[in-house]
Amino acid sequence: MDFLPIFIDIENRNCLLVGGGEVAARKIALLLRAGAHVTVIAPELCSELRDQLSVQLHAQLSRGRITHRAEAFHPDHLRDAVLVVAATDDPVVNRAVSRAAEHLHIPVNVVDNPKLCSFIMPSIVDRSPIVVAISSGGVSPVLARLLRARLETMIPTAYGRLAAYAGEFRERVKLHFAHPAKRRRFWESMLQGTFAEMIFAGKDKAAKAYLERSLENEPADSAQWEALGEVYLVGAGPGDPELLTFRAMRLMQQADVVVYDRLVSPAILDMVRRDAPRIYAGKERSHHVMPQESINELLVRLAKEGKRVLRLKGGDPFIFGRGGEEIETLSGQGIPFQVVPGITAASGAASYAGIPLTHRDYAQSCVFVTGHLKDGSVDLDWQMLARPNQTIVIYMGLLGLPVLCRQLIEHGLPAGMPAAIVQQASTLNQRVLTGTLETLPNLTAAANLRPPTLIIVGEVIKLHRTLAWFEPEGDPHAIGSGGRK
Ligand code: SAH
Repeated sequence: MDFLPIFIDIENRNCLLVGGGEVAARKIALLLRAGAHVTVIAPELCSELRDQLSVQLHAQLSRGRITHRAEAFHPDHLRDAVLVVAATDDPVVNRAVSRAAEHLHIPVNVVDNPKLCSFIMPSIVDRSPIVVAISSGGVSPVLARLLRARLETMIPTAYGRLAAYAGEFRERVKLHFAHPAKRRRFWESMLQGTFAEMIFAGKDKAAKAYLERSLENEPADSAQWEALGEVYLVGAGPGDPELLTFRAMRLMQQADVVVYDRLVSPAILDMVRRDAPRIYAGKERSHHVMPQESINELLVRLAKEGKRVLRLKGGDPFIFGRGGEEIETLSGQGIPFQVVPGITAASGAASYAGIPLTHRDYAQSCVFVTGHLKDGSVDLDWQMLARPNQTIVIYMGLLGLPVLCRQLIEHGLPAGMPAAIVQQASTLNQRVLTGTLETLPNLTAAANLRPPTLIIVGEVIKLHRTLAWFEPEGDPHAIGSGGRK
């Protein structure tokens, strides 16, 4: 993060604006909206600013105030200012303003000149009191503006009223529920439910009455309030955050705490509610950080504390994810839970590598197996796997790859059967190696692949050459790439 986003209270405080043109007029309008006293330093004003001044003289503006001084900038003007903006078309003046302000440690913004700024002005979506600020750190203001346009269409204009009413009731709700978790739940149900809908529909009075009623009907909690939490067992997909489901996204925003695996990509973890503490449950090949029983117990304990626990797992929780075991324990203890499917590595890798798992001409069935080694050997039903017209997807198979390939050949698959290995499917680190049962082990050994990797065996691999579409070539370690670090 290059800049720290903050919101400054400038109501009734002095701000200095150097410049009298149209750009200055836009900045002044913004400062006035936030209630500032703006002193404009400019030998001359553009017509827009002149109008603004005369309107102010005639109508008593409730927020903000402008004073014009028809002078050239002098550092003395900075006295009492809490914020300075330079918007002249004279680089010499702009630089002088910046330097003088820096000298006095007053935050300064020079329009269109990030180097002379100590703060930058974001693009904003204004649903006061809700304000969304977007910045590209001065790198691409156009991109920030495009993003702003998108948010404008997504956030109903009534959000301002919604927030204002929520503010009105805040103290009462706080007094009603001593328990913060219960209070938050009450607000979540109001702000996502009937109350919000009524406000969007313009029925403000009815909405307020509804909120009052809901508050009365909701028993105030006491010290004995025994909250029973809930566990959300959520599949996070193979890595690309865009492959999350809507439900996963929603639950990620309302969790009180998150317990996650190594397979969950940092880009996805970034999207979980920020103030939910994160507990790493590990799961690395051969050195599990937390034994499965401890994870099961942890989920039970957190839920019994009344928390909404997000159990976030790579791929799909019910495919080689031990999700079943985790909820068995919960169910045994009477703890409510939900399971949200995710895109499993087989689907993710197949789509992003352009390898259809079934195909009319090549494969009428597809099996998912784990290639996890037990004491150096892989224990699988080779007869069933080594069938024609079938695609085999092998999870956790990197270490066992030579054994797997040898066994499949010994049980009847041709040595020339196409096989592929996909590294970190759907992320910017995705790599696809293709070969045959005979060649893939050596190709893989030479390639120094990074986990997780998925192996696919079958004639469908032939389609990869024509169907591949996702071939990332950027620097996977670049900032903001979302790749695994
Ligand atoms: N529940 C997960 C699988 C967990 S087992 C799912 O449904 O995908 C862990 C194995 O999944 C890894 O060893 C690897 O074989 C595979 N895997 C998970 N994410 C992957 C990815 N992005 N690319 C390739 N393989 C992946």
